Amino acid sequence: MQFYGHIVDGQEVPSLDGATMADVDPYTREPWATIALGGKADADRAVAAAKNAFDNGPWPRMGYEKRQQLMHRLADLMEQNAEELAMADTQDMGKPITQSRHDVARSVLNVRFFADHARMSAGEALPMDTGHHAYTRWEPVGVVAAISPWNFPLMLGTWKVMPALAWGNTVVWKPAEDTPVSATIIGRLAIEAGFPHGVLNVVHGYGPDSAGSALTENPDVKRITFTGESGTGKIISAVASRNLTPVSLELGGKGANIVFDDADLHNAVHWAVEAIFRNAGQVCLAGSRLYVQRGIYEEFMVRYKAAAEALVVGDPKDPATTFSAALASQEHFTKVKGYLQADSLGGGSILTGGLGDGWSVRPTIITNVPHTARVMREEIFGPVTVATAFDTEAEAISLANDTRYGLNAMVFTENLSRAHRVAAQLHAGTVWVNCFFIRDLRAPFGGFGESGIGREGGNFSRDFMTEPKAVVMQIDPA
Ligand code: NAD
Repeated sequence: MQFYGHIVDGQEVPSLDGATMADVDPYTREPWATIALGGKADADRAVAAAKNAFDNGPWPRMGYEKRQQLMHRLADLMEQNAEELAMADTQDMGKPITQSRHDVARSVLNVRFFADHARMSAGEALPMDTGHHAYTRWEPVGVVAAISPWNFPLMLGTWKVMPALAWGNTVVWKPAEDTPVSATIIGRLAIEAGFPHGVLNVVHGYGPDSAGSALTENPDVKRITFTGESGTGKIISAVASRNLTPVSLELGGKGANIVFDDADLHNAVHWAVEAIFRNAGQVCLAGSRLYVQRGIYEEFMVRYKAAAEALVVGDPKDPATTFSAALASQEHFTKVKGYLQADSLGGGSILTGGLGDGWSVRPTIITNVPHTARVMREEIFGPVTVATAFDTEAEAISLANDTRYGLNAMVFTENLSRAHRVAAQLHAGTVWVNCFFIRDLRAPFGGFGESGIGREGGNFSRDFMTEPKAVVMQIDPA
């Protein structure tokens, strides 16, 4: 079984105490790789390497253009090793290989986009009436800790790591314990691309009382960018506040998908399926609450059920598979399974789906669910939609906003005024109209309420990953 180590100071290394963990493929339910299992000492070692690289190495001082070139070299190497990266995420979490290939392409874009964005960014110059002018500089902050989840291991890791690097910081990346392999591969490729030692470090391990919490406690970490559960985000925020370390938190969701009776039904059904069954619903942005206007409810549900049942359930390594026959881990399967029990359904009935083989849950649609039921209120993070009929626009908005989350929402309508009117009223960081999952990396990404703090993407990542500085200069002596 291949070994995947930490990446520290330009070397791939074992844990200081030699500890390892087995990396389990959730489809075969067998270990397929051995991973260095880090703890506090390993996290501190990685932070020390990153701090040394920031304080004494060339990265923060080499300028945007040289960093851009190195990052593009990394992106080239990712493209050359795309199949290895895609297979790593598929074996680590059961994602269908075609979707992992898509994630690799998007991850390459993360690298190229943030490299180019930093290189081409412009600060403000402010001519003043007093014979001075002021301008903005974007100073790197130092060591950034990037803590990522298991649902899009490579895509969300690179989304956090790359803007930090592009702005001249050094990074310690802790991927989720269930999906560690693609992070080590990226670390290896960064070494091959010629990144200076200590610029991109990877440390493996668990979150609480382990490598993850050690990163959040370390005073030499100057920013924490975290994606994961809302509960974990609250813990990290509390710990980080002891050092006044700024945090960017991308957390859970319970996305509402509203289909009005004037919608293009074919398009709405297509995206309603994508919104909850892509990646087996293990998506923060999942459209897990479906609200359909009463006049089209019956017809919509017939088509929606048929489309859900037409998904090809199978081996995630098979390119023909569109829906994986495995959730990401046994622990996660057990959690999702719990939501299909009577006490979670609150009287709702399963229209299609339910448990599958092994650690799998089939594409599941639940109807007649009261608004207070756990399946309606809580993030299931699995392939489970709750579907409800509504009558008026105001009712749909009210139902959609009745959640402690606020990451995203979808609206399907052919009425232009309604589209803008409803989008404006939804409490969500992203609203998609007549589509889903389409991203512009310059746009703000993040959530309202318990879906997070802060925004990432384009200038939003720049503002978090730098210390903006005002320089005021006298032009004419008074
Ligand atoms: P998680 O919170 O369990 O773990 C995420 C990461 O945090 C892992 O690397 C874990 O090891 C680490 N961690 C856990 N406890 C920690 C602690 N006390 N200190 C430091 N690190 C700690 O989340 P998960 O189960 O891996 O991911 C699923 C969750 O992520 C879902 O709630 C989902 O909605 C959310 N998510 C949000 C977004 C977004 O952009 N808003 C994107 C993807 C996933």
